[in-house]
Amino acid sequence: MTLLGKRALVTGASRGIGAAIATALAAEGADVAITYEKSAEAAAEVVAKIKAFGVKSVAIQADSADPAAVQASVAKTVAELGGLDILVNNAGILRLAEVKDMSLDDINALLNVNVRAPIVASQAAIPHLGKGGRIINIGSFFADKVPGGAGLPVYALTKSALTAFSQGLARELGSRDITVNVVQPGSIDTDMNPAHGPFGENLRSLTALGRYGTVDDIGHMVAFLASDKAQYITGTALTVDGGANA
Ligand code: NDP
Repeated sequence: MTLLGKRALVTGASRGIGAAIATALAAEGADVAITYEKSAEAAAEVVAKIKAFGVKSVAIQADSADPAAVQASVAKTVAELGGLDILVNNAGILRLAEVKDMSLDDINALLNVNVRAPIVASQAAIPHLGKGGRIINIGSFFADKVPGGAGLPVYALTKSALTAFSQGLARELGSRDITVNVVQPGSIDTDMNPAHGPFGENLRSLTALGRYGTVDDIGHMVAFLASDKAQYITGTALTVDGGANA
């Protein structure tokens, strides 16, 4: 129980990696609020799973593309859980297109959800975070290496932006003993990137381990970073990709 008494907010946690992160934090004793955009039923199931650990949980509908909703989700977390110690900016979207073909709508959606929302959520969370506070941003191994022909440049840009943001914010918050890091998943089997989807074979072949990762592989890393055991890790990006960038 490394997170007993801590209060966490995980964005985009009705499914996939976010749901696993929220569950991993709860398993270590944290109270956990989650946000979702559309999947109210799935979010309620995650909340029930979290509560089974004997901790508090609440699901908050909040579109990450809407800054006011993001701010309100932080305020609601503080009101429901009595404070905030850990912010995990996980909500993200993938839109694939060559740069010459990408619509302005897709560019804006990627920037708003993947980049602006983590900034706005961090802004709203910072006043509430105390000594030992944590901000963990979910990036992508595509921030380090961008395969050609896959329509990834703008998505990869949004994820590499999180690295610079986290480095700078780690310096701003270091004197308050708050850490800021990025976790960069490799290919993790979710609705966004199904292991048996159209890119599955190619992405699997990039890994040293010869397989996709599971959502729990990311949940465990985030729970570790959130704990006191990771107190001297800040301003860095930790890649969990089965050796895809090896
Ligand atoms: P999924 O598409 O499987 O799940 C996305 C989650 O985010 C859902 O809970 C969804 O809510 C929520 N979400 C999506 N858009 C919004 C929004 N506008 N506002 C609020 N919530 C939103 O994604 P993954 O679990 O695969 O990805 C999670 C994170 O990990 C993302 O940041 C992604 O970029 C990153 N990542 C994933 C990799 C992978 O291989 N899977 C690899 C590298 C990085 P709802 O159910 O309501 O739609």
